[in-house]
Amino acid sequence: MHTMGWPLDDRTGGGSFIYHYGENLAAVGFVVHLDYENPFLSPFQEFQCFKTHKTIRPILEGGRRIAYGARAITEGGLQAVPKLAFPGGALIGCAAGFVNLPRIKGSHNAMKTGMLAAEAAFEALASGRAHDVLDDYEPTFESSHVYGDLKLVRNVKPLWSRYGTSLGVTLGGIDMWANQILGFSPFGTMLTKGPDFAQLLPAAKAKPISYEKPDGVISFDILSSVFLSGTHHDEDEPVHLKLKEPTLPIRENLPVYAEPAQRYCPAGVFEVVASGENRPQFVINAANCVHCKTCDIKDPAQNITWVPPEGGDGPAYGAM
Ligand code: SF4
Repeated sequence: MHTMGWPLDDRTGGGSFIYHYGENLAAVGFVVHLDYENPFLSPFQEFQCFKTHKTIRPILEGGRRIAYGARAITEGGLQAVPKLAFPGGALIGCAAGFVNLPRIKGSHNAMKTGMLAAEAAFEALASGRAHDVLDDYEPTFESSHVYGDLKLVRNVKPLWSRYGTSLGVTLGGIDMWANQILGFSPFGTMLTKGPDFAQLLPAAKAKPISYEKPDGVISFDILSSVFLSGTHHDEDEPVHLKLKEPTLPIRENLPVYAEPAQRYCPAGVFEVVASGENRPQFVINAANCVHCKTCDIKDPAQNITWVPPEGGDGPAYGAM
C-alpha cells in the first residue's frame, strides 16, 4: 500500500508505504520530504498521526511493535546525482541517489550500478591499476537503462516541491507521460528550489503544529521507539555529531527557527534544556542516534556534521 499526502499539508511532500509480509507482519513507513518549510514539523509525529487514519488503524490494531528505524532517502533525482567516482571508490545505488522517486523503486538501479562499478573495477584491476579513479564507470551509467529510467521522471520532484502535492504531482504525471510518449518534456529539465536546509521558514512566519499525545497502542513516543532500533553507542566514545559552532543552536537556530533539531531528529537526540534562571542549553544525546543523517541535511545553519561513530556502533536493525 502506498499513500501520498495526509497528514502532511499540500506544501509538504511525502507519503507512506505498508508492506505486508511473512507471518502476520507489516512494515509501515512514512516519508517526509526534507525540503519542508515549517520548522515546527516533526516527521516522527507526522508518522504517529498517519497511523491513526481510519484506513490504517485497523491494519495495526491488536499488533505489536517489534522494530523501529529511520533513514534519509536521497531523492533529488538525476539533477542531483553527484560525481560518481573518486580515487579508490565509487558511489552506487542510493548512495548516489538512483532511486526512482515517483515509482518508489530503487533496488533495480542499485543492483545495476553496482554491476557497472564492479565491471569498471574488474577491468581496472585486470590492467594492473589501483587506487586511481574508475573513469569508465560514469559513462557506462550514462548509457545504461538507469540513466534513462531517471531521465523520464526528472521533473517530478522539482514540480512537486514548487507547486505542492495536488498541482505538482498532477503536473509531474503529465510530464512523465509526455516524456514517455513524445520523448521530450514541456518543462525541459527543471532544477530543484535549492538545498533542503535552505527551505525552512523562520518560526515567526510558520504556523505552530500541535501533535496529539501518543496512545501507546497505535502511536508511540520517541524514546520507546528508539529502544526498538537496538541502537548502541559506548557511553564514553567521542560524540559522532559534530557542531562546527557549538553556540550557534542557542544563539541563532533557537530564536529564528525555534531550534528545529528538537523536532526533525526521529530519535530525540537534540534537546533544548532550560531550567529556572539558567540560559537554555543545547544537549546532544548522541547515544540515541539511529544514523538517519537528517541533522546533517536539514540543520538550517549547516552546523551539524554526522561522522561514522567509533567501532561501527549504531542501530541493530534485526527485523528491518
Ligand atoms: S542525530 Fe541526526 S543522524 Fe542521528 S538520528 Fe538524529 S537526525 Fe538522524
